[in-house]
Amino acid sequence: MKIIGLTGGIGSGKSTVSSYLRKKNIPIVDADQISRELTAPESPVLSEIRILLGENAFHADGSLDRQAVADMIFSNTQLRNRYENLITRETAERCLAQLRRLAAQKKWKAAVLDAPLLFECGMEKYTDENWLVDADLATRLFRVQQRDGISEEKVMDRIRVQMNDSEKAARADEIIDNSGSLEQLYAQIDRLLERIGYER
Ligand code: ADP
Repeated sequence: MKIIGLTGGIGSGKSTVSSYLRKKNIPIVDADQISRELTAPESPVLSEIRILLGENAFHADGSLDRQAVADMIFSNTQLRNRYENLITRETAERCLAQLRRLAAQKKWKAAVLDAPLLFECGMEKYTDENWLVDADLATRLFRVQQRDGISEEKVMDRIRVQMNDSEKAARADEIIDNSGSLEQLYAQIDRLLERIGYER
């Protein structure tokens, strides 16, 4: 089973590509969703977070107080690194476990690891090839403003904290250019799928 890493900065259209692949019945391992589940009630990772950040990081009912966590790690770089390393490590382990389960089913030609931080978190070591979705900055800014109803400045703040695009491009095997129409986007994906042996 070929494992394809799918990544792209905010507003590139990565989710649009991921949905299209899902519709084509290609299994997707969603790193963002896995990472959110880590801090959901009953998650075993909560006990590790309790050791790291203490009881103040939790509500009275035992659920994670996300605002308290944000406040605690905001001004403490060391703590932030340790917290982020914990979440990254656990997310990567769960992604890998899901990929292994899919491979064991022996019915998939390919699976996609959808990870906005594929390169930043070193998850490319699990993948056979990596696809980067990209679009020019003005298009990304416009689309995120439309999608999320936030100011251009806020979108720029979110783009700035991500790894720069040329670094990502250098590490990608395929760059999917999403500066044009959805039809143009889907045509590129169809060509890539054909290359790896998927029917249209
Ligand atoms: P990402 O997951 O990379 O942040 P999305 O896939 O959510 O980006 O795309 C951002 C917004 O732009 C969404 O509202 C999506 O529907 C829209 N969009 C994506 N690609 C195109 C395109 N080629 N043409 C028009 N709108 C697009």
